[in-house]
Amino acid sequence: MRSDSVNLKIDNIMEGIGFLSHIYDAVRLVDPVAKKVYDIGDNPVESESKCYEFWNTGQVCKNCTSMRAIKENKTFIKIEYNGERVYMVTVVPLQVEGRIFVAELLKEASDSNLVDEFLGKGKSEIYGMLERKNLLLVKDELTKVYNRRYINERLPYEIMSACEKGEEISIIMADIDKFKSINDNYGHIAGDKVLEAFAGVLEGCVRKDLDWVARYGGEEFIVFLKGAGCDKAHEVAECMRKSAEGFSLEYDGNDISFTSSFGVCTLLKNLSLEKLIAAADRNLYAAKNAGRNKVVSSEYEGGDCN
Ligand code: GH3
Ligand code: MG
Ligand code: MG
Repeated sequence: MRSDSVNLKIDNIMEGIGFLSHIYDAVRLVDPVAKKVYDIGDNPVESESKCYEFWNTGQVCKNCTSMRAIKENKTFIKIEYNGERVYMVTVVPLQVEGRIFVAELLKEASDSNLVDEFLGKGKSEIYGMLERKNLLLVKDELTKVYNRRYINERLPYEIMSACEKGEEISIIMADIDKFKSINDNYGHIAGDKVLEAFAGVLEGCVRKDLDWVARYGGEEFIVFLKGAGCDKAHEVAECMRKSAEGFSLEYDGNDISFTSSFGVCTLLKNLSLEKLIAAADRNLYAAKNAGRNKVVSSEYEGGDCN
């Protein structure tokens, strides 16, 4: 696989940034997990600003190409808008003396034919158009909830941010019971409709702006709950379990009903994404082994916060 990341010394960075500043309108060094922007000096110095503040949307970017750059170790490009100007953003993964950063190279593109489609459009219309474009990469085509890429790019930030604020977070791993038999009995199109319905059930039990639902793969979903302790998360999973149990899908003359199982894990301290998902997965399997149509939850006391 092609790798774009290079291990640089601070001097190289200084030279490079100096040169690139002539070509780009802004060049910044960012830690995409913490969303922190660094000022370049003798050493990278953490600044007060968060990378997403530049775009004036008041929230973390849903399509974070900087996170993608470090996850996939490749350079990515996207178009963004800050309410006044449209920018082409090139994101390059970097290792600076062993630490992982990205260099974000911003070039104003308002006058280029790259952004013809935005000409004459108002602020909220441009934000909306770009949001729809950017969401395509992080949404699951079938169920319209977020996809696996979103989990990988977003969850590390959620974990770090909760840890910094001393806030609890929980994830739920949700899985449809005996889903294979739905496909076998009613066909894969019916199975797809059940998946869409299940995603809707999960979304119906969470808060729209704080929590999120993503398809992990097949008939498995991950739900992220911000600020939720073990009891709250268990309660939300129970709401999902009951709603799914009470749901019936009419398809081709059949009433299809199904149950689902849930593994819940509450995070008390910093922990890797993989360990958090593995802990929720263990609880999901405990729910399956206990006879399915159940919620099993626990707390996970990971390592230290730094
Ligand atoms: P369990 O209760 O243990 O979870 O059993 P299960 O049948 O739900 O689990 P299993 O892993 O045996 O089967 C999952 C099935 O999901 C098999 C696969 O064909 C089906 N599947 C995966 N993705 C899709 C999809 O996008 N559409 C449809 N219709 N089926 C899918
Ligand atoms: Mg299943
Ligand atoms: Mg499964």
